[in-house]
Amino acid sequence: MALKGKVALVTGSTSGIGLGIARALAAAGADVMLNGFGDAAAIEALRAGLAAEFSVRVLYDGADLSKPDQVAGIVAKTEAQLGRLDILVNNAGIQFVAPVDEFPEAKWEAIIAINLSAVFYGMKYAIPGMKARKWGRIINIASAHGLVASPNKVAYVAAKHGVVGATKVAAIEVANDGITVNAICPGWVLTPLVQKQLDDRAKENGTDVETEKKKLLEEKQPMLKFSTPEHLGAMVVFLASDAAETITGTPLSMDGGWVAQ
Ligand code: NAD
Repeated sequence: MALKGKVALVTGSTSGIGLGIARALAAAGADVMLNGFGDAAAIEALRAGLAAEFSVRVLYDGADLSKPDQVAGIVAKTEAQLGRLDILVNNAGIQFVAPVDEFPEAKWEAIIAINLSAVFYGMKYAIPGMKARKWGRIINIASAHGLVASPNKVAYVAAKHGVVGATKVAAIEVANDGITVNAICPGWVLTPLVQKQLDDRAKENGTDVETEKKKLLEEKQPMLKFSTPEHLGAMVVFLASDAAETITGTPLSMDGGWVAQ
């Protein structure tokens, strides 16, 4: 129970990677504020299940992270209802795929708001409390696309490169306040976000999802294996541990060799 007594906020934790991270933090003893969209009854079952399984406090807030005042709101609610905010995991994210000259403006705005601006606002509102307590961990879920590009993902790649840059700036600013700020840069993780891309590709290419899974990995990763939400959860728990207290300002790749090429 390495994180007993710590409080974590994981944005976008009703699904995929965020859920894996919230689970790993709860298993390590942290109290957790969940966030994200989805069916209310399913989210409540998830919240109550995590609290019961790991004997920690688990709350949920449905803040829409595309709205800066709602990012401020969920940070304030975490501090008010769970007593503090020690570990902020900025994870919520969306994707849309189209060439630059056909990319819908509303999709650009939404991806920049959720994948980039919400990370800035989360850090802005969480850092004062962390500074006052002289301890904090901020972990931003970027992507291999925070380090290299792929076609048809202009907003996503721009946002994720921005997340890596913002991570470095925050890290050096708070380097002597007991706070570390890092980014994790996953390659392919099989979540609903990637499943949609697989379904679309299978439809477009007249193939099936299994064929597209193999092609997706072969295109980018020397290691032909998906990372899992559990891998990401374990990395976040490590970054929140005392052993990681001098790791800061770093984009940590978990990508099967994607950006090593
Ligand atoms: P997902 O679609 O499974 O989960 C996204 C989560 O974000 C959900 O809980 C959703 O409800 C929430 N969300 C979306 N819009 C929101 C909003 N406006 N306000 C609050 N919550 C919102 O996706 P995922 O694959 O688990 O992605 C999680 C993060 O990991 C994203 O930032 C994504 O860019 C990043 N990532 C994913 C992969 C991958 O291969 N899946 C690879 C690299 C990086």
